[in-house]
Amino acid sequence: MRSGPCFICKKHRGEVQGEIGPLWEDEHLYIYHAPFLGKEKVYSGHLMIETKRHLPGWGELTDAEARAVGLWINRLAAALKASEGAEHVYSFVMGHNVPHLHVHVVPRYPGTPREYWGVRVNEWPEAPRGGLREIEELVDRLRKWLKDDH
Ligand SMILES: [Zn+2]
Repeated sequence: MRSGPCFICKKHRGEVQGEIGPLWEDEHLYIYHAPFLGKEKVYSGHLMIETKRHLPGWGELTDAEARAVGLWINRLAAALKASEGAEHVYSFVMGHNVPHLHVHVVPRYPGTPREYWGVRVNEWPEAPRGGLREIEELVDRLRKWLKDDH
């Protein structure tokens, strides 16, 4: 666990700037594309569902928060498949570094070699990656897809 103020809470309060605004926000959740963390490009479509409340992990959510998380894992997976051509969508919770629940929702693209399936999917050197502009466009496509009725 990292000591000091929670990075995710600080981001939600607007004290640190994410590169790209939230893909979605409601009373329970923020959803963002994964940050660049100093890199020039990032794995395309790696999304994070974050609870608004500071809580460390599973077992701490209210029923309403848990329903919202499940609903959005499914919605994001549908959007990643339909809009971005993902052949499979993973959802992971690690929480090794930041003790504030964030669910990684990560597409696997066609052609990904088997050795990269699972938590290493974003390590495939030939995986689709984007710079800031490409990722902003990707997030816009997902927002648009989600806005239409599906
Ligand atoms: Zn927090």
